[in-house]
Amino acid sequence: VTLVVSPLIALMHDQVIALEQLGVAAACLNSSLSRDEQRSVLERLRDGRLQLLYVAPERLMQDRTLEELKSCSVSLVAIDEAHCVSQWGHDFREDYLALGELAQAFPGVPRMALTATAPERVRAEIVERLALRSPAKFIASFDRPNIRYVVRSKVDAKSQLLGFLADHRGDAGIVYCMTRKRTEAVAGWLADHGFDALPYHAGLSAVTRTENQRRFLVDEGVIVVATIAFGMGIDKPDVRFVAHLDLPKSIESYYQETGRAGRDGQPSVAWMIYGLQDVVRLRQMVESSTADETHKRSERAKLDALLGWCEVTECRRRSLLAYFGESLDEDCGNCDVCLTPPDVFDGTEPAQKILSTIYRTGQRFGALHVIDVVTGKRSDKVQTHRHDELSVFGVGAEFDVQQWRSVLRQLIVLGYLSVDTSGFGALRLTRQSRTLLRGDIELP
Ligand code: ZN
Repeated sequence: VTLVVSPLIALMHDQVIALEQLGVAAACLNSSLSRDEQRSVLERLRDGRLQLLYVAPERLMQDRTLEELKSCSVSLVAIDEAHCVSQWGHDFREDYLALGELAQAFPGVPRMALTATAPERVRAEIVERLALRSPAKFIASFDRPNIRYVVRSKVDAKSQLLGFLADHRGDAGIVYCMTRKRTEAVAGWLADHGFDALPYHAGLSAVTRTENQRRFLVDEGVIVVATIAFGMGIDKPDVRFVAHLDLPKSIESYYQETGRAGRDGQPSVAWMIYGLQDVVRLRQMVESSTADETHKRSERAKLDALLGWCEVTECRRRSLLAYFGESLDEDCGNCDVCLTPPDVFDGTEPAQKILSTIYRTGQRFGALHVIDVVTGKRSDKVQTHRHDELSVFGVGAEFDVQQWRSVLRQLIVLGYLSVDTSGFGALRLTRQSRTLLRGDIELP
């Protein structure tokens, strides 16, 4: 018998049914079974009538279960979703840490760890924490050529989404949002526009969640508007798009979430919008979290990698694969950058203008006010603070508000500006920005 360790209790049942249909003698052992059902599974196990047994990590590591299993002839232990053991990974589960003890519990039994999302660092952590001794590694390509990657500046999320969906009427898809409230608002709004859209988040009742998930899997053309609570273990082949209205936390999360599109190999789209507001909010979340400094540093690095990727001006797929340590011989021709290369311009002068404006207004204001000053808008706040008397007032009238927001976003991503973490989002210069202001370096 092969033991399959899986964190997805809710999905074990479906997996067992699918295997039974293929003629594999499979069963699962978890808390969702009645006592009688558990007893019958154990009987089949003892009699050697099982080929595959799914078990949740917390159940497996109980002394009683381990003793029971040791007396059966286990031939292989497969640990699924193995990245869950990585503390700096995006899906850490405390229960997974104990799985390192399987080495002693089943000496001589081969163990394998499986995951779909692990950059080099996480792979190393899997090997270490699961106590795998110089294992053979099999790494498949991360490339999903049928998925088109598109990232856009956020201007008006809802109407941009509607514009995107105009090409996807009748398609099944997932729309990810940051908050529960927003998933419900967006789902309702899409339904008003004639889409078969359903919300999904951890705050809904189990009955509603199961029903919405079932409709997504079974019916055609259903859109699920969800928080990240939705999707792990979902295996629907014809998901035509995954849209992000808010940024995920890391490139790993993004890759895993968008990887739910196009499993049938047909053309699919991963579409995401993001704006200055997202950058400010995510930076604040990381800085104001109560986590220790090491953890914060890791969160910061992951966020920076994602933001940097959003701003790339070279083939987006190349850059995505590079993050996972894979290289592509040529540009993909199937991402937004390849299809419509962005305009690039010398940003030194606009950057100097906005940085000076932030400096002259005392580094105490958020984007809105700074842009009012640089574009020369006499708002009440500008007049109250007499910022219309500053030399920088109106020096940036050549750009509109959206363009300045884009400049600010890129300056934050590049480290030329920091965001105050107290909650007001005041923009501040960094040591790096002084070199730019002095004209020592140029901004391509
Ligand atoms: Zn490309």
